[in-house]
Order: sequence, then structure tokens, then C-alpha cells
Amino acid sequence: MDAFIQNLKLRFEKERIYTYIGEVLVSVNPYRELPIYGHNYITSYKGCEMFERPAHIFAVAEAAYRILKQRLINSCIVISGESGSGKTEASKIILRYIVAVTNISNQAEIQRISNILIQTNIILETFGNSRTNRNDNSSRFGKYMDLNFNYKFDPIGGKIQHYLLEKSRVVKQQLGERNFHSFYQLLSNKNILQEYGLHFKPEDYYYINQGQCCKIDRINDKKDYEQVIEAFNIVGFTQNEISTIWKIIAVILHLGNITFTDIDGEHCSIVRSNDQLEWISKLLECEQSDISSALTSRVVAARNEVFQTRQNITRAYYGRDALSKALYERLFEWLIKYINKTLSRDDYEQRNSFHKRIYSSFVIGVLDIYGFEIFENNSFEQLCINYCNEKLQQLFIELVLKQEQDEYESENIIWQHIDYFNNKIICDLIEQPRIGILANLDEACQIVGTITDEIFLKSINKTFKNHKYYSSWELTPGDKIWKNIDTNKLFLIRHYAGDVVYSVDGFLDKNRDTLFDDFKRLLYHSKNLILSSMWPDGEKSITSITRRPLTTATKFRNSMISLSNLLSSKQPFYIRCIKPNDEKAANIFDQIRIEHQISHLGLLENVRVRRAGFCHRVSYGRFVQRYKIIDVVRSKLHPYGPFNKESASYICNELNINNDVVYGNTKLFIKQPISLFQLEKKRTEG
Ligand code: ADP
Ligand code: MG
Repeated sequence: MDAFIQNLKLRFEKERIYTYIGEVLVSVNPYRELPIYGHNYITSYKGCEMFERPAHIFAVAEAAYRILKQRLINSCIVISGESGSGKTEASKIILRYIVAVTNISNQAEIQRISNILIQTNIILETFGNSRTNRNDNSSRFGKYMDLNFNYKFDPIGGKIQHYLLEKSRVVKQQLGERNFHSFYQLLSNKNILQEYGLHFKPEDYYYINQGQCCKIDRINDKKDYEQVIEAFNIVGFTQNEISTIWKIIAVILHLGNITFTDIDGEHCSIVRSNDQLEWISKLLECEQSDISSALTSRVVAARNEVFQTRQNITRAYYGRDALSKALYERLFEWLIKYINKTLSRDDYEQRNSFHKRIYSSFVIGVLDIYGFEIFENNSFEQLCINYCNEKLQQLFIELVLKQEQDEYESENIIWQHIDYFNNKIICDLIEQPRIGILANLDEACQIVGTITDEIFLKSINKTFKNHKYYSSWELTPGDKIWKNIDTNKLFLIRHYAGDVVYSVDGFLDKNRDTLFDDFKRLLYHSKNLILSSMWPDGEKSITSITRRPLTTATKFRNSMISLSNLLSSKQPFYIRCIKPNDEKAANIFDQIRIEHQISHLGLLENVRVRRAGFCHRVSYGRFVQRYKIIDVVRSKLHPYGPFNKESASYICNELNINNDVVYGNTKLFIKQPISLFQLEKKRTEG
């Protein structure tokens, strides 16, 4: 561990933020602009093998692209790391690289698609990112993007998939944090606010002022607003669509300022001191009376009879917040669907029927997803996120080991047993149908009557009493007692990356994610057809049998399983991002923080798996071609070959690295990076 960190540190101090472990790229966030992404860098990585040039993210993008182009293998780049470590920046750099090295013939259509791909990020960041205490521009959703290529290997489209948008932020923020950027961007435009019944002071809106930091020096909301409008236009949104998007944002701001007053403990009414309701009605194009009854009562059907029940004040606030979150979530989903439609291959194929016939699908996937999280208070969201990381680790183990094994076999090299921890048992603990933690949670959510988070906790404590990676949690003397955390509600999971104590507080609620049908019907009947199209489930009548919507856990579990299938069908490349300090400062290398991340990223496991294998493999032809110019061997090797095993063996002998290499059928395998560096060093010396 120490040696590895020392190495990272030395490199970081020399502005070498990228380091390889085998083919895994480790990236340390420099927190300042480095001149290493310019055109000259792009050209210097283009067409090169990964180990021929110093470690760089371009080399990974190049490798993913080359394997597609030369061997027609689809690849994926998995980027992980904690918030603020540089994942999203990395995904953008990869995209820019691929756009830069493709489309040599400069076709307008490819240009258009490339442009949209880049603009898409701006839209997603406006609606899916926010300032948190860890990152001023933190993505609050996981993102997987497929880039599609045509037979010339130019990008012709893409598809975005998102995972678990943190919608609780729409109604609640911690001190020092903001809501999604979109709200502040809208409010930064004095001249248009009248249209939405809003005014210029973000501090006045409850849904966005709770963090007490509406304005931040490092963020220019007005400029960003102009940028996102431009992006909307480039992607092809109509004026009507753009205005509906902002109307929804405005409605949420108004909703947050609606207050209720208690009538008799069981009923409540909306406080009519302001004109919020009028504006909401105007912007949503729904009847004012329908909105107010949806906010204060529920229509229920029993035995073919329909009647209205009034909500108490707690339920009313709950409903208001649920509505705001759902409005935002559906808007976000709609945006992604829209972008996907613009980027879709079908669209392209229709416009280019010629390509249709010879087109086959080549793909590079890029996954930018939340890393392992351990906070002071870990809730349902952390369980989902950490489960996601368990799945990715599982995939990593399977793919890397399987890949190694396959290659050793085909190259006729003796397979070495690798001793590693297989985390499948933890994945099972969480996801197994019927018996896993998530299944238990779903079951609890189906129980009618009084079921509480505590009862659920008791049940899983009992189920997993003897599980090696689960433990009920009781306070023992000497334990740190956290503020504001009820210690009776905790359980512990021993994740591959470390132990996490979760609080079950709110688990049932978050999993059920209830939104009353009244709201769905209300919005489905909006006269704004774009809005109405976001609420197709509001169509059904009150008396029709409603199937329970899928729970959050089920949806997340399904999406993780399909993500995992998607990735495992591709050749993976890994980028592990590390955040050097919590101050967002350049030049500070906080050793303790970095140690934690290295263990959360499972990097040491990485090193171990890799050490048992080889750091580099290369065909004899390429090896001899590349190193025949080294001084000590040059005179003995003929410039025109043969470029075979014998010549390679001669080079290794002369350079004294014979103990560190193994000869396969067609490839040379090098164990340690140091040998490779030696070769490269000698090569540049002449
Ligand atoms: P994550 O997506 O992992 O939460 P981001 O990619 O948003 O983190 O990075 C957080 C911030 O760190 C960025 O806004 C940027 O200021 C800085 N940063 C990240 N990567 C780089 C880089 N390669 N070069 C310069 N600054 C970077
Ligand atoms: Mg991000």
C-alpha cells in the first residue's frame, strides 16, 4: 500500500496525474487546468498502444477505439471514484478525444452528431448536477452512454441511460449545498421571470434556499443558462418544449412556497396569502380547483364507489413534496428520452438509407457512476450506490480474471491461481430474489397495516443473523455516538471496500416512493400536451384496478442487472478516479483520504490480481519492430526482420529482462512494469 501511494504522490507532485496498474488507469484530480489535453497531445496518442506512451486518459480512449476498429470488438470504459474525483470530467475528455480522432472526411452529419453528443452534457449537467459539499458540479445521477459508430468508425449516434437520480434534493438540501443548477439558472434571468410569476431572489424560495448558498463565486448561473439554451437549440428542442421545461421548474419553485394550515387535526387547507396557486395553474395549464383538491385530499375507490378523503397537514406536505420530486424526475427522464431520440441510430439510418444496408453496430460504452459511499449517516441511497459498486467489482473480477484465463489458455501459458476475494456473496446478500435484503424490503412494503422501519430491521436482523457479511448493530461502550442518529435503527454490511453502518430510517418510504394517483390524473389532463405526455399513467380511471408500481429497490436492482449484462458483453477498460483532498485545492495530497479511496476502489485487489498476471502483453511482431532500434541490439537485428519469437528473445536476453517475461504462442508477456519502462527508456536513448 505505502509503496503504491508514495509512487502516486511523487507522480502527482510532478503533475503526472495518471498512473497505470496493469491496464487500469488511476487518475488523481489535479484541481487545475493542465496543458495535457491539447491538440498535440491528441496526435501523440493517436494510433499508439497503451504502454508506448506515458500513462494518459487519451491512451485508454485510444485503446477502446482501436480494439473496435482493428478487431471489431465493442468496448466499455468504466469510470469510478467518489464524488469530486473527476469522473465526469474524464468522461467528457474521452468523448472529446473520440470526436477529435474520428470523422477525418469531415462529414456534416458526423459533425452534427458529435456536436450534439458534446452539447448533451451541458443539458444533463444543468438538470442533473448540483453543488454539494464535495463538488461544486456534482452529478446526482449515474450515467451510462453508448457511442455508436458506422462502418467507417465515425460516431453516428449514441444512447444515454441514467441511474437513480437523487430527487430528494428537489425538496431538501443540507447546509452548504444547492438544489439542481436548473433552478438557479432560471432565476438568474431577471428579464424573463415575469412570464413565470417568479422574482429575482432565489433566497425567497424554500425549495432552493435551505442550504443557504444560492450564489457561489465559482458558478455563473446566468452564463450557464445561456449555454444550456444554446445546447437546447443545437439538440433541436422547439421553443414550446424549452418553455415547458422552464415552466415545470417554475412550478416546482412555486410549490415549495405553498403552505398549509391545520383545520382540526384531520383536515388542512392551503394558505392563500400569495398567488402561487394561480401561477401553478397557469403554468401547468390545469384547473386551479383541481390542483388544490389534489394537494389537500385524495380520491379513493372502494367497492365501486368513489369518494374523497381529506388529508391532514402532514400528509399534505408529504404529497406536495412527492409531487415536486415526481415532476422533476419525469422532466429529467423526458429530457434523456428526447436526447436519445435525437441521437438514435434509427434516425440516422432513416436519413441515410445507403448506410442502412451495410451498417452494423459498433459501440463504445462509457460509464460515469457514483463510487462507494460511506457517510456519517448512510441511508437507502447509500445502500443502492454501494450495491452498484459491489456489482461493478463483481464484474471486474469476472471479466479481468476470465480474460486473463482465456488468453493464457490460447497462448499456452501455465495458468497461475490468483487468490482474491470474490464478493459475489455480498451481491447475493443484497440482491437475491426472495431472500436478499432488497427482497425483504419489498416484502415489508407490501404489508398492509402498521409496518415500520424498525419492524423491517428486526426482520432482516433475524434473517441474516448468521451471515458473515451482515451484522445487526448494537452500541457497545467506546463506540462513537453520532449526532442525530437513532442507534436503534442501524445495521452493518461488510462491503468489499469496507464496513458500512446503515440507518433504516426512511427505508420503507423511500422504497415505496408513493405518488398519489390524483397527481398523475391531474397532470395527464393538462392542456399542455408536452407535460401531459410525461404522465401517461394518469390516463386510467379511478375505479380501474391499479397495479402497484415497482418499488425503487426493484427498479434499481433490475437496472443494475441489465447494466451488468450490458458491460459484460464488452471489452472493459477501467478508470479509477481519486480525489487528492477535500478542499478542492491543487497541490494538496492528503495521504489519509487517498488511502481510504484506494481501499474503497479495491485498487489493492487490482494490484494483486495484476501482480499474479502480467502487466503487458504484446505480439512478437510489434515488440521487435518497436525495440529493434535499442543500441545494444541494433547491430544484430536485421531492420526487415524476422520479427518473431527468436528476435524477441534475443532482445530480452540482451536487456537482462528474460526472468521477467514469458513466451506465449504469438505474444510476449511481461510481468512487471519496470521491465517495460526499461525498454521504453532504452528505446528513447537510441
Ligand atoms: P465527479 O464527476 O467525480 O464528481 P468531476 O468530474 O465533476 O467529479 O470533477 C470535479 C471538479 O474537479 C471539476 O469541476 C474540475 O474543476 C476538477 N477536475 C476534475 N478532473 C479534472 C482534470 N482532469 N483537470 C482539471 N480539473 C479537473
Ligand atoms: Mg460527476
